Amino acid sequence: MTFQLHRPTSVSEATSLAEKFGPSARFLAGGTDLIIQVHRKRCAPDHVIDLSGLTDLVGIREDGNRFVLGSLTTHKEIERCLYFRGPPMALVEASRIVGGHQVRNIGTVGGNIANASPAADLVPPLLVLDAEIVLRGQNGERRLPLDQFLLGPGKIARATDELIAEIHFSKLPLRSATSFIKAGRRKAMEISVVCVAARMMLDESRRCRGVRIALGAVGATSLRVPKAERMLEGQEPDKEALREAGRLAVQASSPITDVRASDCYRQLLIETLVPRALRLCVDRIERLQ
Ligand SMILES: Cc1cc2nc3c(=O)[nH]c(=O)nc-3n(C[C@H](O)[C@H](O)[C@H](O)COP(=O)(O)OP(=O)(O)OC[C@H]3O[C@@H](n4cnc5c(N)ncnc54)[C@H](O)[C@@H]3O)c2cc1C
Repeated sequence: MTFQLHRPTSVSEATSLAEKFGPSARFLAGGTDLIIQVHRKRCAPDHVIDLSGLTDLVGIREDGNRFVLGSLTTHKEIERCLYFRGPPMALVEASRIVGGHQVRNIGTVGGNIANASPAADLVPPLLVLDAEIVLRGQNGERRLPLDQFLLGPGKIARATDELIAEIHFSKLPLRSATSFIKAGRRKAMEISVVCVAARMMLDESRRCRGVRIALGAVGATSLRVPKAERMLEGQEPDKEALREAGRLAVQASSPITDVRASDCYRQLLIETLVPRALRLCVDRIERLQ
């Protein structure tokens, strides 16, 4: 394995290198996906552009009614972020079970998204938060909703010279909550067999509003379940309604059989975990009343 390592100190230098070297170059953030792929000969870049000098892309901040996550923010920083202990809790729950401490200390949110694994744990929580990706390239900045950015396994809507600079999402209204549940073959250092994120608001008459459900590891990319979301809108979150959401989520998914689990087992997990994730949201909202 040989490649030339570049260490830019600004986004414009990084994107200019990416434009110059085109598909023969890869960005390096924490390296917890990229370096493994290089070792396994799944990719062989001639140029590696190390982003670690781009300190502007590190950290979490509030910007009016939004949260802004720099793409180089690590899982550990998200896990410890006090802003996210309220309604965006799903993000904390996903970050704190990515790999082990070593992986969480260097793996980044930008790398998790850009790697475009169908089992990337941070993607379902960001989908239920309606996150937007901010891309910067030689021609400036553009924004894309996360679901339009993810095109398939390992495929993203990034131009050659662009990098993910930030991830934005709006603060949630009062009486809102999110949740994330991951099923793996063990409780730590495990890629998701299925993961589920949910979001909801309960109005004054205890009816569901603004429901979002996202699934990971059950299709080519993480996916939302609009049919179940619409079915729950305006409904009371009783057992039968939440179960029906689970059944609709199974219909929306297309799990495969692989070394981790069979398609049937994944369907059973979806049917079980979707109502459970929604119930967690209800419990969180009602506990705060
Ligand atoms: C032991 C182990 C356990 C793991 N467990 C989990 C797990 O439980 N859940 C999970 O979801 N993942 C897991 N992972 C995968 C990995 O740790 C995460 O996906 C991590 O977030 C990747 O981030 P990174 O900064 O290391 O990315 P890198 O490896 O640096 O980059 C990954 C890809 O994204 C591109 N990239 C990186 N940053 C940018 C950017 N800003 N703009 C554009 N492209 C960019 C790179 O070119 C590369 O193609 C595990 C990995 C290991 C080694």
